[in-house]
Amino acid sequence: MKLADKVVLITGAGSGIGRQTALLCAREGAHIAAVDIDETTAEQTAATITADNGQAIAIAADVSRAADCERMVQQAEAAYGRLDVLFNNAGISHHADADAIDTEEEVWDLTMAVNLKGVFLGCKYGIPALRRAGGGAIVNTASFVALLGAATPQLAYTASKGGVLALTRELAVVHARENIRVNALCPGPLCTELLMKYLDSEEKRQRRLVHIPMGRFGEAEEIARSVVFLASDDASFITGATFTVDGGITAAYVTSE
Ligand code: NAD
Repeated sequence: MKLADKVVLITGAGSGIGRQTALLCAREGAHIAAVDIDETTAEQTAATITADNGQAIAIAADVSRAADCERMVQQAEAAYGRLDVLFNNAGISHHADADAIDTEEEVWDLTMAVNLKGVFLGCKYGIPALRRAGGGAIVNTASFVALLGAATPQLAYTASKGGVLALTRELAVVHARENIRVNALCPGPLCTELLMKYLDSEEKRQRRLVHIPMGRFGEAEEIARSVVFLASDDASFITGATFTVDGGITAAYVTSE
């Protein structure tokens, strides 16, 4: 097992990537702190793991709030005695996030608060816990949109994910000699709730698929496997990386006639 007895805290664990990562990490032997702003879905994830003889606790927390992030780390350490892996994954994609002219300040602020400040706060309280454990791994979820400009703009979302990449690189450099690795994950378009609520017709989905060389959306489970890799000793010499798992979208220019 790749994560035997490791304590893994996952934000956004109630759905999509976070949920699949929690289930997979548990199958790889980890003890899970499943964090979500939605207490019900966090509990569902934890219950699924414990029903499968794994170890999990659910924690309700809003990653944009410092007190919540401090408490989620405390609860994980109190339950399991240590923290080895921090997966800062919670994120939102606001329906009114558009271009510079049409994006309201409130939409910008909320997106930054969850997607970027949430990662900062996770690290602010998580890194001292990783130090107490003698080191560990952090994986921050960015996105392929941090690497490409899109014709359908989501300016706040894109900027927040670019921030996650920059923050990840600096954290990796600062903490490298403390045995703490920090990597950013850039998923491509996935068939999770976050994207599919916008691509709600076959026509819209097909228009997006034109740009993905593999010709399909990714599964949350495929991202989860990358998180297990980055969190495990298999990735022992990988830090500060921008790890794309995107069906080739960032490698492509035009993929159809
Ligand atoms: P999802 O909507 O299925 O899951 C996100 C989870 O985060 C939800 O359970 C939600 O309740 C939780 N959450 C939202 N705000 C929160 C907050 N303030 N505090 C704590 N939890 C909060 O989405 P997903 O597709 O699994 O996305 C996970 C991450 O992957 C996000 O950071 C997203 O930006 C990123 N991502 C997604 C895609 C995609 O195509 N789905 C592509 C690239 C990157």
